[in-house]
Amino acid sequence: MRIIVDRDLCDLHGQCVLTAPDIFRFDDEGELQYLPEVEGEMAARAESAASVCPTGAIEIKP
Ligand code: SF4
Repeated sequence: MRIIVDRDLCDLHGQCVLTAPDIFRFDDEGELQYLPEVEGEMAARAESAASVCPTGAIEIKP
């Protein structure tokens, strides 16, 4: 599965980082970094992160 974050929508709330810290993180500059491709259990966690994102910035594509 492919992860796409719309950085125009992302307000850096960090719910995705809390929900799936193995996929999403903030770097030293406070920018959101994330794995572009995930499979299996990680894909399920990416879906959970997308569902808790308050701005709907995370898109998961097959
Ligand atoms: S939860 Fe959504 S708005 Fe918050 S940092 Fe993650 S992608 Fe951005």
